[in-house]
Amino acid sequence: MRVLIATREQQGTSPSDEDFAVEGELVTPVVIECPDAMCDVCTRAWFGLASHGGTTTAMVVDRPGVTELDLRRALHEWLDCRGTIDLIVQAAESGAYEVDGTVVVDPVEAVDELVDAHVAEIAAICRAFPAGTVVSRLGDLVSPRVTQRAA
Ligand SMILES: [Zn+2]
Repeated sequence: MRVLIATREQQGTSPSDEDFAVEGELVTPVVIECPDAMCDVCTRAWFGLASHGGTTTAMVVDRPGVTELDLRRALHEWLDCRGTIDLIVQAAESGAYEVDGTVVVDPVEAVDELVDAHVAEIAAICRAFPAGTVVSRLGDLVSPRVTQRAA
C-alpha cells in the first residue's frame, strides 16, 4: 500500500527542520495534539512508528509489503507508548470521548476510531501527492517540499 516514511531528503532546506526519526520507517501525522499549547512538535512533525522520533520531512512511497493491518498495528503500538490509548479509554469510560460530535462510550470502539482516523489521514495525504513527493506539515496543512535549484 501507499504509505508515508521518514526521509532525510530535503532535510535542512528549511531552517526549522528537525529529524529524530529513522530513515525509511513508517510515519504518521498526529490526529490529537498534546495539551501543551506551546508545543510545535505536534504541529509540524511526522512521528516515526518504530523510533517514535519526530521528523519534519516525510515521503510518499509505495510499500507493497505493508498491509493496512501492519499499519494499524504500528499505529496502535505508537499510540499506546505515547499514553494516548490510556487517555482515550479513560475518556470513553467516563463518557467524555466524542468523535465528530457523537459520544463513544465503548473504549475498544474509541481506540479503533482513533486508529481509523490516522489511517484515513495517511491515505488522504498519499492520494494527494505522487509517490516520491517529500511533504511537510503544519497542523492539517500538508504541502510538498519544492526542490531548490541552483541558479
Ligand atoms: Zn505536542
